[in-house]
Amino acid sequence: MIEFSNVSKVYPNGVVGLDDVNLTIEQGEFVGIIGLSGAGKSTLLRTINRMHDITSGTLTVDGQEVKNLKGKQLRKFRRNIGMIFQSFNLVTRTTVIRNVLMAKVPEMPFWRVLLGIFKKEDKLNALEALDKVGILDKAYIRADQLSGGQQQRVALARTLAQNPKIILADEPVAALDPVTAKQVMSDFKKINQEMNITILINIHHVELALAYADRIIGIRAGKIVYDGPSADVTEDV
Ligand code: ADP
Ligand code: ADP
Repeated sequence: MIEFSNVSKVYPNGVVGLDDVNLTIEQGEFVGIIGLSGAGKSTLLRTINRMHDITSGTLTVDGQEVKNLKGKQLRKFRRNIGMIFQSFNLVTRTTVIRNVLMAKVPEMPFWRVLLGIFKKEDKLNALEALDKVGILDKAYIRADQLSGGQQQRVALARTLAQNPKIILADEPVAALDPVTAKQVMSDFKKINQEMNITILINIHHVELALAYADRIIGIRAGKIVYDGPSADVTEDV
């Protein structure tokens, strides 16, 4: 599903983001990527949907070589990949359901979202996504009235409404309190198990990664320094 073959990424200022990474991730895996700040976790995720270009090596996602994708192909490719950030990136002054429907903006004019003109099937799809993450009852509430954990669930529902094959989550629980962080991690787990979506989560919180991910990848200075089942990880990784 995702294959890094001797991939390196050097930023224009000379900083090495990834250093000769070799990695294969299968469809349906739930991978926790751990490492200190600056280790290269974000860089790794951002090469997958080509928010960042790689400098050398080969990166293949869903059978396509990422660096060859252009224009319409690239947009279509990106629609199959959901992205979740630490700061939920919602339009906080509008309702939860309109936020979820933003997932449709690439195919639908933005003014239709603003005016609330949606296809019935899109609306049902959005409500279904909200149900999946347990906040269906919040559909018509303004996003800024929700707690952090609920807002991250809205972001997750918005991603699900895109019907992605892969979800890349960059420190999705870093801004949440420990109890809420666990709840959001179990939402990711549920989505992974029930929908067979491949999930890669950057997480500096090792215990959370071990508790929820099936596979742990450790990264340091752009190199993969650990890769194995979370059950095999000892405390001192
Ligand atoms: P992490 O997500 O593990 O904190 P990053 O992937 O963000 O690590 O960063 C890896 C290294 O690349 C760091 O040294 C960081 O400062 C550097 N870096 C990240 N993004 C850029 C950029 N756009 N330009 C230059 N250097 C960058
Ligand atoms: P985040 O955790 O959301 O990635 P960061 O503070 O790591 O936020 O980075 C914010 C932006 O700055 C990102 O686009 C990242 O690629 C870029 N960036 C990070 N480190 C550097 C750096 N050393 N030089 C230039 N840009 C950087």
